[in-house]
Amino acid sequence: MVEKIVCEKCGYVLYESKELIPPLQVYEKYNGVCPNCKKKLNRKPLKIEIKINK
Ligand SMILES: [Zn+2]
Repeated sequence: MVEKIVCEKCGYVLYESKELIPPLQVYEKYNGVCPNCKKKLNRKPLKIEIKINK
């Protein structure tokens, strides 16, 4: 399982890792602004969990 958090405006990948973290932590890391489109992030950015078959 991989956790992927993307900007809901432009789809920029803000966080991608096997370690699960709260979306709010990502929000604070980027000071609430998407580094790609400079839009204010939702406090709960779009969270996508991906299952990888191995
Ligand atoms: Zn964005």
